[in-house]
Amino acid sequence: MKEEIQKDNLYISVVIPLLNEEDSLEELSKLLTFNLTKIAVDSWEVIFIDDGSTDKSYEIIKKICKENNKFKSIRFRRNYGKSAALSVGFKRAEGDIIITMDADLQDDPNELENLVNKINEGYDLVSGWKKKRYDPISKTLPSKFFNWVTSKAAGIKLHDFNCGLKAYTNEAAKSLNVYGEMHRFLPALSFRDGFKVTEIPVLHHPRKHGISKFGASRFLKGFLDLITVIFLTRFIKRPLHLFGTLGFLCVFVGLGIDIYLTIEWMLGLTYISERPLAILGIALIIVGVQFVSMGLLGEMLVRNSAKDQNYSIKEQI
Ligand code: UDP
Ligand code: MG
Repeated sequence: MKEEIQKDNLYISVVIPLLNEEDSLEELSKLLTFNLTKIAVDSWEVIFIDDGSTDKSYEIIKKICKENNKFKSIRFRRNYGKSAALSVGFKRAEGDIIITMDADLQDDPNELENLVNKINEGYDLVSGWKKKRYDPISKTLPSKFFNWVTSKAAGIKLHDFNCGLKAYTNEAAKSLNVYGEMHRFLPALSFRDGFKVTEIPVLHHPRKHGISKFGASRFLKGFLDLITVIFLTRFIKRPLHLFGTLGFLCVFVGLGIDIYLTIEWMLGLTYISERPLAILGIALIIVGVQFVSMGLLGEMLVRNSAKDQNYSIKEQI
């Protein structure tokens, strides 16, 4: 496979988002140079995206870039988040294959070759799977849940959506719209657009230097973005199917309750004013009508913003 890569002269880009990782960068760049030279001789580039570091990270990056012009860098004026960094990195990257990895040495540069080989088997996105993971249980347990829900929502079974180590074909990377905390769901988004997505187990290491850059807020943000992803992967082109179903369900249950109470009242069994259930019935009908209207508004938005760029085109002649 290696010969094949060299023969085809594939150009490889490695995109690395980082925030305050001064202690890891030197070692990382050495390991990258070693591995990338092995895979692609000199047909490669590494792009560091400094996401607003306040330590010496950028000074070190400048030094690395000066020593070897295959290393390039982008520096944000402030911290915008990992998704923003990846998005900018994808735009700048010129590789036939674009690889992303974290800067903290938790992802192993020795895995690059396996990722590239897997892409060459014909996949558009190869996601790393931290099969044996070196993180605290407060992180691994919620992450299991997230991966399970995301798998269900996206319709593709992966063990680890949020591994920093991933390889993309140029097309797959460029077609991604990464914002918010979407970096957690990239395989789901690519899969939705019809790209061939798979995963391979990769080595994972404990963090050597510094601390994790995502606090407890990761769970709330991740959860909200999960809702977005479910909506984006399933209902973006047909909001009425979601809101309409929910709405009519509410209306029917509400109507059922109120009809039942009306019959009891007509039979003289009860006074509606004595039945709190009546309020639930009315509330459900009102909420249901609101859901349906929301769905219709959604449909209007979809019609008005239906641009061709939303469709992922594979080929044209
Ligand atoms: N990172 C970033 N911007 C941020 C937070 C993190 O570029 O706002 C980088 C960070 O420097 C690292 C990668 O994203 O290279 C993964 O972050 P971290 O290792 O803190 O995440 P964890 O491994 O704890 O999930
Ligand atoms: Mg890490």
